[in-house]
Amino acid sequence: MSSIVFATNNPHKLEELRAIAGDRIEILSLADIGCHDDIPETADTLEGNALIKARHVYSNYGYDCFADDTGLMVDALGGEPGVYSARYAGPECDSASNVALLLDRLKGVADRSARFKTVIALLLGGREYVVEGKVEGSITDGPRGEAGFGYDPVFQPEGFDKTFAQMTDGEKNAVSHRGRATAELLKILSKTI
Ligand code: IMP
Repeated sequence: MSSIVFATNNPHKLEELRAIAGDRIEILSLADIGCHDDIPETADTLEGNALIKARHVYSNYGYDCFADDTGLMVDALGGEPGVYSARYAGPECDSASNVALLLDRLKGVADRSARFKTVIALLLGGREYVVEGKVEGSITDGPRGEAGFGYDPVFQPEGFDKTFAQMTDGEKNAVSHRGRATAELLKILSKTI
């Protein structure tokens, strides 16, 4: 089986990607290749950050690699938190404080429309590829569900009456931003590996 590095330290994402990729390709983590670097995400676009991470691994460790960056764009907040989704409530924040701040900013706001977007940058044999996936939905009035991570308890995808945190992994992956971006990634990998 071929292998490729997923440049993330997020165990939830790694698990999601491994479930989506199945036995088609082995997904290695940064820990698997002995990379414990703190890779700074200094770009102001999702694409820029994904490229920084993938290029770091490719040039310092020599592995074919991909990296993702995800943002939650809320229409009533002018696209916030967007590229700053991970640090919305401050540099040391956690998911609970990000969700609390988001709900606070949307208190009394009727337009709850939002979307998740994932950009994946792939470095394969020295070539760069960028793919993306999106899912439309809305922000709920309060958190619902225990599964998933991040903003999952307050994001309800269009056409469903439950949040991502109330879905099984399979249900979420079938419609999610990362599921769709990963499908594009796998198309490229299956043609080239
Ligand atoms: P990252 O830059 O891809 O790590 O994600 C940025 C922020 O979006 C982090 O706060 C994550 O918790 C959140 N996030 C990323 N993907 C998801 C998801 O699938 N569901 C909920 N939140 C997510």
